[in-house]
Amino acid sequence: MTRINPGGTIGILGGGQLGRMIALAAARLGFHCHIYCPDPRSPAFQVAQYKTIADYDDEAALAAFIAAVDVVTYEFENIPAATALMVTAAGKPLRPGVKALEMTQDRLIEKDFLNKSGVTTASYQAFETLEELEAAFAKIGRPAVAKTRRFGYDGKGQYMVKNKRDLPAVMDVTKGAQSILEGFVSFDREISVVVARSASGDVAAYPVGENIHTNHILDTTTVPAVMKQVVEAKAKVLATRIANALEYIGVMAVEMFVNDAKNEIVVNEIAPRVHNSGHWTIEGAATSQFEQHVRAICDLPLGHTDALGKVVMKNLLGKDILDYEQYLSDPTASYHHYGKSDPREGRKMGHVTWLTPSGTGE
Ligand code: AMP
Repeated sequence: MTRINPGGTIGILGGGQLGRMIALAAARLGFHCHIYCPDPRSPAFQVAQYKTIADYDDEAALAAFIAAVDVVTYEFENIPAATALMVTAAGKPLRPGVKALEMTQDRLIEKDFLNKSGVTTASYQAFETLEELEAAFAKIGRPAVAKTRRFGYDGKGQYMVKNKRDLPAVMDVTKGAQSILEGFVSFDREISVVVARSASGDVAAYPVGENIHTNHILDTTTVPAVMKQVVEAKAKVLATRIANALEYIGVMAVEMFVNDAKNEIVVNEIAPRVHNSGHWTIEGAATSQFEQHVRAICDLPLGHTDALGKVVMKNLLGKDILDYEQYLSDPTASYHHYGKSDPREGRKMGHVTWLTPSGTGE
């Protein structure tokens, strides 16, 4: 396994807030970062030493980027397969690797992989046409959720089906793209497990976070999640099993639904990258998910994942980012601004984390 020592250069595909926070953590450990992103206004460019502004299929720019770095990682999962192959063909480590990308870019492949690995998911059926959707709905039953297989995030490309009459409207959303129909899971809480696996195969999972979504976008993550210990332990075992089955290198998040009465966990999806539901770790854990990702992909020892107390992370969307006065005056709050200039409604502009340290009597 290739170890990359402090002083080395980490290449990051994607220049959003996740790349930005990886670069900040990498800098603290003495690494240099090279961000590759088509958008010149990318938040990560503001904090990294090297940048390439080019499209992901620009072979000349990619080749120069790959040659200039010691390891390539990414902050979003829709890396084109050809781009991933260029990295490995050049003999540079791509971490997480091609298998992780292949298994998580497509919801059908991901669900097949999870079930083969002994992990429970919602029931599902693939469809493209209205006829196939009708057949899928007959099998899955109601209610159901239709999702495009690729490129969906924050609820985009999704449609809730309550009734056979809803089916034609699904086609307006999926537009004939390869899709799946999932059975609706009745759950009490949504949780995620952020887990790291290093190039040497060491695994460390963070305490489970409970996530509240509003309009399909993550609103808050609370740690510890209020749940039975046996279920928390099971959630961590599942995330570890998935990381091992993917021969994963880096940090990933596994989103799950929990049924309290049945002690049951259903895995919703895997994000093969650092994740919004792990932002609490910056102030709230012994090692942040971003530093842990750097440690994992550089084959350095993983850090401790213990929570330092009770932690709440809240996303700041759109104009919420302008409320900094209030957060900066609050001694328990840590305010994060991603450096984006246009506070469009619903856009992730920053987040705030409240930490109540253990032992303070609360
Ligand atoms: P996803 O894009 O798959 O993460 O879905 C976004 C959100 O939709 C999830 O966080 C859930 O709140 C809800 N959701 C997605 N799939 C299902 C399902 N099969 N059953 C119940 N709720 C779901």
